[in-house]
Amino acid sequence: MVAAPILSEYQIPWTLFVATDFVDCPSDWHRTRMLTWDELGELSRMGVEIGSHSVSHPDFGRIDEKTAVDELQQSRSRLQSRLSLPIDSLAIPFGQSRNWSSFAHHAAQRAGYELIYAQAENTRPPGTIPRTFVTSIDDDRIFAALLDGAFDNWEEWY
Ligand SMILES: [Zn+2]
Repeated sequence: MVAAPILSEYQIPWTLFVATDFVDCPSDWHRTRMLTWDELGELSRMGVEIGSHSVSHPDFGRIDEKTAVDELQQSRSRLQSRLSLPIDSLAIPFGQSRNWSSFAHHAAQRAGYELIYAQAENTRPPGTIPRTFVTSIDDDRIFAALLDGAFDNWEEWY
């Protein structure tokens, strides 16, 4: 809600990826940090693209095919029905190469996702789009390095 008017002023398009369970059944930790459905609707009316980040944010590299299909289909369907928007993009939870599988990729395509974002530019799974991991604790020096591609090979979780 803070970033939206600033990004809008500079005409920078952006996508917000939502793990739907975090909105539907927030834990105490999520309740103070995650947006509500009303806030997501407000942002989408401001022109922010909304994408899926699954239902429960699993590691798709460690779940079975049926669970992957359910996570991908149910998240997209929930977002579309709740926000009355087409949902065409998915950001892979965790986003590292080992957090994805070929059956998850096919399930995502069958579920209707046209854009699938992974992470590191040089190690992402085939058919995905690179994204850069930016956190609230990154200072200006780290952010500049991110923009320069310093982390294009970096998979931080492993
Ligand atoms: Zn995530």
